[in-house]
Amino acid sequence: MRKRLTATEYIEGILAFDISILSRAITLVESRLTSDRLLAKEILQALLPHTGKSLRVGITGVPGVGKSTFIESFGSFLIEKVQKKVAVLAIDPSSQRSGGSILGDKTRMQVLSQNPNAYIRPSAAGDSLGGVSNKTRETLLLCEAAGFEVILIETVGVGQSETAVKEMSDFFLLLMLAGAGDELQGIKRGIMEMADLVVINKADGENQLRAEQARADYARALHLFPPHQGSWIPEALTCSALEKSNLESIWQHIQNYQTLTQNNGFWHINRQNQNLQWFKATINEELQRHFYQNESIRNSLEIVEEQVRAGKTPPMLAAETLLRKYFE
Ligand code: GDP
Repeated sequence: MRKRLTATEYIEGILAFDISILSRAITLVESRLTSDRLLAKEILQALLPHTGKSLRVGITGVPGVGKSTFIESFGSFLIEKVQKKVAVLAIDPSSQRSGGSILGDKTRMQVLSQNPNAYIRPSAAGDSLGGVSNKTRETLLLCEAAGFEVILIETVGVGQSETAVKEMSDFFLLLMLAGAGDELQGIKRGIMEMADLVVINKADGENQLRAEQARADYARALHLFPPHQGSWIPEALTCSALEKSNLESIWQHIQNYQTLTQNNGFWHINRQNQNLQWFKATINEELQRHFYQNESIRNSLEIVEEQVRAGKTPPMLAAETLLRKYFE
């Protein structure tokens, strides 16, 4: 058992870019123990003035599109060519239920994980996506306080995790592949609409031409969406994460976005709205936690669930009964 650090030791360690202390602080944030949560709150509170200065980039795409390869290449590019410190947070929705993971295996981003200016952290599985994303936001703040200048928040383009990531990013990048035939098939429209930039990955070798064709198709499709709130015009680019091509151009796009939206105020408004969402999400999460921890709810939940499953009690009525019990 390691010695428990004091809040001051955590705070000073994080501000001094001590990655092992940062890691331990994130573990506190993820903990379910009340004493850990209280300590985490104290640390976060003290570090708040040191947060908010990073560029938060959300990255999504289906499994196999090349997210980890891209982050490995792009992260290394940012560190070496742009002299940024880069943190990578990975939200893996699949690990919540099954314990298995799409993102979490250790072989991912081996080069980047060795770099002293990089930090890679999978977001722990929680009870709910809300729980995961609140913890991810707190983790993001800790990384910012430590001095990471670009935070890449990665998620698999399945379920609702990309919405959660969008809600904590300044810029949202969608990785895609050139498909066979109809390039626009099978894309969740909602995700495309969230993207500030679409990048067609694996534009190398024989795939290069198809990737360029797909790029043109996506670029056209992007123009059909309602105008971006920040007056930004999302575009489509190609890249090869494997050959590290076009990373410069992607970075240029992100910088253009930052300049434009910081000048027209959208950057700030977006962060304000995100804070409001976070505030509401925290209330929802705490209420839920409180509800499910309630002794009398815990005692009857299983029975009521069984009655609902068996069709003996209508779901609405069952929920109402439990809620009444809770509020008594
Ligand atoms: P993820 O599931 O989205 O994280 O995808 P991975 O990064 O694990 O990549 C899936 C597979 O695609 C791996 O075999 C990679 O080597 C390969 N891959 C990733 N990026 C590229 C690329 O730019 N070009 C080519 N040819 N293959 C790539």
